[in-house]
Amino acid sequence: EPIVSFEGITKQYATATAVEELTFSVQEGEFFTLVGPSGCGKTTTLRLLGGFESPSEGVVRLHGEDVSGAPPESRDIGVVFQNYALFPHMTVAENVAYGLKFQEPPGNVSKSERVTELLSLVGLDGFEERDPTALSGGQRQRVAIARALAPGPDLLLLDEPMSALDARLRERLRVEIQALQEELGITTVYVTHDQEEALAVSDRVAVMQDGQVEQVGTPRAVYHEP
Ligand code: ADP
Ligand code: ADP
Repeated sequence: EPIVSFEGITKQYATATAVEELTFSVQEGEFFTLVGPSGCGKTTTLRLLGGFESPSEGVVRLHGEDVSGAPPESRDIGVVFQNYALFPHMTVAENVAYGLKFQEPPGNVSKSERVTELLSLVGLDGFEERDPTALSGGQRQRVAIARALAPGPDLLLLDEPMSALDARLRERLRVEIQALQEELGITTVYVTHDQEEALAVSDRVAVMQDGQVEQVGTPRAVYHEP
């Protein structure tokens, strides 16, 4: 059974149809990438998956269960948006702990132990008391990832997490995200407009165009790589 399935999802806004009869599924443990040009419906798809939007038509399932109208808090999902929305007036540790505002940490650990564990996981040991506004873009994005992972979700959604970074940092963070995904065995749905990035990180790629999935498959199959 897939962890995620979209069954004929349409999202109609007053002025636009963002996605139309969208059908795809994501298997447990997969690194699944939605790729396509700006405006093709990637962010809307991620917002529907996270529960920040409800579909106009169709059914969203998580582990087979219909969650179409369910709010984000009821879904076991970590989300990292394009512009890492860290709270500037909070320390790094407080930002990560915010991910535990509505949920207890997994395992028998305190919130502060969990924060330390996560900062270590993303390569930011000892950053607890740092000011997030004094960090590099890559470091901030890693704090956002730590926050998303704090409750131990089984699904991680990443919306263009590297778009604000330079090429060298992008490459580094890309490798780190992949390693993290393998280490945690977490399912990842990743959004990018960058075909090269999709090719480098994904188990499978869904190529989107005009609110629909045009092609789904391994990067090799989709991009005819040797
Ligand atoms: P992408 O992430 O691929 O750039 P989006 O999902 O953001 O695409 O947008 C898909 C289409 O839906 C675009 O035409 C966009 O303008 C439109 N759209 C997205 N969100 C809204 C909204 N809240 N209200 C109206 N139109 C929207
Ligand atoms: P992206 O290009 O990554 O989809 P955008 O900057 O286009 O991001 O969109 C950011 C936010 O604005 C999203 O929450 C999206 O739903 C909303 N949005 C996008 N297009 C429109 C639109 N035409 N009207 C209203 N809201 C929109």
